Amino acid sequence: MPNMSLKKVAIPEQDPNIRKQNFKEVSLGYTVDMAIEEALRCLNCKHKPCISGCPVSVNIPQFIQHVINKDFDKAYNTITETNLLPAVCGRVCPQEAQCEASCVRGIKGEPVGIGRLERFVADYHLNNSHDEPKKPLTNGTKVAIIGSGPSGLACASDLAKSGYEVTIFEAFHTPGGVLVYGIPEFRLPKKIVQKEIDNLKAMGVKIKTNMVIGKVITIDELKEQGYKAFFVGTGAGTPNFMGIEGESLIGVYSANEYLTRINLMKAYLPEYDTPIRKSKAVAVIGGGNVAMDAARSAKRLGAEKVYIIYRRGEEELPARIEEVHHAKEEGIIFKLLTNPVKIIGDNNNEVQAIECVEMKLGDKDASGRRKPETIPNSNHQIQVDTVIISIGTSPNPLIRQTTPGIETNKWGCLVVNEAMATTREGVYAGGDAVTGAATVILAMGAGKKAAQSIDAYLKQKTE
Ligand SMILES: Cc1cc2nc3c(=O)[nH]c(=O)nc-3n(C[C@H](O)[C@H](O)[C@H](O)COP(=O)(O)OP(=O)(O)OC[C@H]3O[C@@H](n4cnc5c(N)ncnc54)[C@H](O)[C@@H]3O)c2cc1C
Repeated sequence: MPNMSLKKVAIPEQDPNIRKQNFKEVSLGYTVDMAIEEALRCLNCKHKPCISGCPVSVNIPQFIQHVINKDFDKAYNTITETNLLPAVCGRVCPQEAQCEASCVRGIKGEPVGIGRLERFVADYHLNNSHDEPKKPLTNGTKVAIIGSGPSGLACASDLAKSGYEVTIFEAFHTPGGVLVYGIPEFRLPKKIVQKEIDNLKAMGVKIKTNMVIGKVITIDELKEQGYKAFFVGTGAGTPNFMGIEGESLIGVYSANEYLTRINLMKAYLPEYDTPIRKSKAVAVIGGGNVAMDAARSAKRLGAEKVYIIYRRGEEELPARIEEVHHAKEEGIIFKLLTNPVKIIGDNNNEVQAIECVEMKLGDKDASGRRKPETIPNSNHQIQVDTVIISIGTSPNPLIRQTTPGIETNKWGCLVVNEAMATTREGVYAGGDAVTGAATVILAMGAGKKAAQSIDAYLKQKTE
């Protein structure tokens, strides 16, 4: 009998008043009984619109049927046919705009909690399966992956399964890309990412860290070392700034720097002495997931007041609804339709306040969103000692500068064709380096597609 409840089975969470003081995971995940109860809300409908809503076409109704039958291994195998990182995607994918947006149950009530079920299946597998991934036989052909974010990991995994000798080159001292340096522990525990990386290593993939390609060694030099094809998954980690007065004051961070200090350099753990400001009042400029992560991290580090300053309204906030909801529960103050014009410093050049203007929404712009317009004479100041700028990021130009023949577009993103091939023969690319800042699942999908193309390219070369 299907469960005809209009609401998803509630997921246990840490109490907001407790969790805003710690970095432990907010959402605690379903128990077996909760997962089955939620799975029973799926009508297993004929047209299965959820599958086309998923960027990597996970067979969602099938994995949910396996959950109903308590066959969690089969459920896991169904998901991982197309999704390498279910424990990650179950936690951070914007399901409300993808699979769940197409769910028939969403017409009258809440859609099936596909993300929550995916997370349950992945966690069940992590906690209960002790199978080591098999090391495939290698064909001796060397492929280099540049960058160890979700696009690089997905590409490496599929190429290793096809027998290639894969080496990942990562600029940081820890692999994982944004999953490790950007998304905080309270949304994505790092042990989950580590497990995926351990699995790759068990499959024979080599990971070389502290290797900034373009500085330590170039793609051409790697080619001389025998690498036959390349995947560039270097992300979009260079922060954009607003260009307003005061951005170089002490106490102004880009969100990437702030989050890297907290996550990768462990500023949130007392045993680490990573320098980070002990803020009392923080303004985070921007309204995306990155802004929410920075604001919620600042709160957990002890700030009394944390503001999100965003120039459009609540409906236009690009962050996931769940993240906005969690941020509000934790006491983050939303200053919507507000735009900063100046950061004000004291005699020591430290941030003292931020000057903003009020905005209203006008006609739609080229992006289809209503354009924010300044309300005259609405200048006002908010007293803060820290400003975190989170208005987007762009790809780093290093690969373009050091790889002759590789082209980028006007936003600095690598140009690729349908097969994810760049304009340089044998060099493929995907993820944020191609699209600009996007999502984990899209990056992973691009890495998988590029792996297929690299395989076809190398097979054709040896014919
Ligand atoms: C704070 C934050 C929160 C986010 N939240 C979400 C979310 O909730 N849901 C979601 O779907 N997406 C989210 N995203 C976006 C998502 O994480 C990215 O779209 C995704 O990680 C992109 O993957 P990627 O493999 O293209 O690049 P990245 O994950 O950026 O990885 C690129 C890697 O390449 C390395 N690298 C760069 N240059 C070089 C070089 N020259 N040599 C060697 N290595 C290099 C970098 O150090 C990095 O490790 C978030 C992003 C941030 C920053």
